Amino acid sequence: MSLVVQKFGGTSVANAKLIFNVANIITRAYQEGNDVVVVVSAQGDMTDELIEKANEINANASKREMDVLMASGEQISVALLAMAIERLGFPVTSLLGWQAGVMTSSTYGSAMITRIDPGRIKKELDKKNIVIVAGFQGLSQYYDVTTLGRGGSDTSAVGIAVALSADLCQIYTDVEGVYTADPRLIAKAKKLDAISYDEMLELATLGAQVLNNRSVEIAKKHNVELEVLSSFVDVPGTIVREAANVEKMLISGVAKDDKVAKISITGIPDSQGWIFRIFSKLSARDINVDTLLQTAVHGDRRDIFFTVKEDRLDDTIEALSKFCESIEGASLTYDKNVSKVSIVGAGMQTHAGVAAKMFEALFTANIDIQMIATSEIKVSVIVARELADEAVRTVHNAFFTTMD
Ligand code: ADP
Ligand code: ASP
Ligand code: MG
Repeated sequence: MSLVVQKFGGTSVANAKLIFNVANIITRAYQEGNDVVVVVSAQGDMTDELIEKANEINANASKREMDVLMASGEQISVALLAMAIERLGFPVTSLLGWQAGVMTSSTYGSAMITRIDPGRIKKELDKKNIVIVAGFQGLSQYYDVTTLGRGGSDTSAVGIAVALSADLCQIYTDVEGVYTADPRLIAKAKKLDAISYDEMLELATLGAQVLNNRSVEIAKKHNVELEVLSSFVDVPGTIVREAANVEKMLISGVAKDDKVAKISITGIPDSQGWIFRIFSKLSARDINVDTLLQTAVHGDRRDIFFTVKEDRLDDTIEALSKFCESIEGASLTYDKNVSKVSIVGAGMQTHAGVAAKMFEALFTANIDIQMIATSEIKVSVIVARELADEAVRTVHNAFFTTMD
């Protein structure tokens, strides 16, 4: 007998028929003799709809109240799923995040799990109940409801798998696994049998939303193998595990992130530590600077360009506009019309020419590269947003055509 954690995303529980489909998957695992703990997200686009509802009332609502509202989506889905399982004749209990012992920081909207006390879940398992836990939500030390950030149910699932020392953590979703690119964008993308934690972490951070990046971080830290698989088609998915147990590919995937914005500050005097002062202003507000480019000195001036997450753009402008006005001759502009396209692959550590191949593909397709960033296992470029899908296609073709 094993202890299995299964997570189902919003599309998988979007309506009554799909809830029964998921209930069948769960009860099958239970009938096979497993202890089954399920983590579920809000139905369909419920979380987006809740945010829209809030905006109709108060577009500047406090993050605390937003969390109270957003967490309600998962409360509905756990109850409905438990009712479906009751109807199929199996013993079941639904639990909200706090009942499942999910304790978090009090950073509303992007809370971190600080600890999970699985006592109640274990009690329910001892009673032979199937346990359905609300994903995405937890409780702060001040007994306030918190949410873990968009896509956070993946993190709830992996956290609970760690707390229970589960034998298996399955992330059921609306595609058959992790692909070499978003299969909704690239029909020819190939499903991977396995991918290392590090590569999956990069892909998730660089925009492949199939797994939330924090869930992969936790899985890596605690060495929990994840299986990403479809709740619609009964075929093996993708295993996310230690690199040693994964066949090394030159490139494992292409990812795209549209939620970035580019800042340009031109005409900065090449003296008095201006660059350092600019970036101190950002770090004081906890704004992460991503891709960064600095020009050579021209005259006695230089320019810098960098990207931030699009939802931090307003903060960035607020942090810098007055300051830049005070630097004589400097000017600050921004561009939301950009995307980041990245390739990820452990193989590039040992193979030269990977970046060149990506740049050549983009050049051949007439796609201008505005900025470049690299690390050991990734190369990212910033391109105009309207060219981003074409960029993914072109780059994917360059690396994967021979695999079809
Ligand atoms: P869930 O609601 O189950 O959490 P998500 O919408 O968060 O599902 O994630 C699944 C989606 O991730 C897929 O529908 C797919 O469009 C997208 N996706 C992006 N990149 C990839 C990739 N490399 N492999 C698989 N899916 C991807
Ligand atoms: N319902 C939440 C969201 O839409 C959490 C999740 O789906 O994982 O972001
Ligand atoms: Mg998701």
